[in-house]
Amino acid sequence: MSDLFSKEDTRPKTERLAELAEQAKSCSACSLSRTRANVVFGMGNPEAPLVIIGEGPGQNEDSTGLPFVGRSGLFLDECLKACGITRKHIYICNVIRCRACAYEAGRLQNRPPTADEVKACQPWLEQTLQIIQPLVILCLGSPSANAIIHRNFRITQERGAWYASKYAPHAIASWHPAYILRLEGAAYNVAKEELVNDIEAARKRVIQARKEPPNSTLF
Ligand code: SF4
Repeated sequence: MSDLFSKEDTRPKTERLAELAEQAKSCSACSLSRTRANVVFGMGNPEAPLVIIGEGPGQNEDSTGLPFVGRSGLFLDECLKACGITRKHIYICNVIRCRACAYEAGRLQNRPPTADEVKACQPWLEQTLQIIQPLVILCLGSPSANAIIHRNFRITQERGAWYASKYAPHAIASWHPAYILRLEGAAYNVAKEELVNDIEAARKRVIQARKEPPNSTLF
């Protein structure tokens, strides 16, 4: 019997996320709504204990409506696979849900989201995480770490360290795949190894967190 006095939404997470994604399709809370082809809401397992959050959609993501499907996505999949993880094990989304881009030399190029765009999109991210309630969040890149861990996060100094977040009991940040793909030689190898190590640390933290009592102070 359902609890008549509870306001908690007891519908399956899949259904609640699908409803939220449908609502986001018509979002015009920031100017990125004018240039997007698709809202890239997120994808993966709504029951996942691990959520990976990147920066924002690129051209491939904008045209398909799916996160991490371009070169960066393939690279991320390779790093996940090194830890025995596939997309079925995780939920993946971005800090902003529409492509941030600007004309450079006559072509539309990706650009980092502005603080106002991140703020405008924050409710979608928050509602997503409220539904999934992950045990562990892995942030990829500074904008994600700024939104999830703390506002002054410095990826070069704080990557690989564990934090409590209001969105999950455990949060860690690593390099964004697109950043690693711009590196060469030894720098590329080191950064790739660090990303794989951080993913593996997140996997192990999920196992540990499952043994902890639920944290009722989140959100
Ligand atoms: S980026 Fe986020 S806030 Fe801006 S229009 Fe897209 S969904 Fe809405």
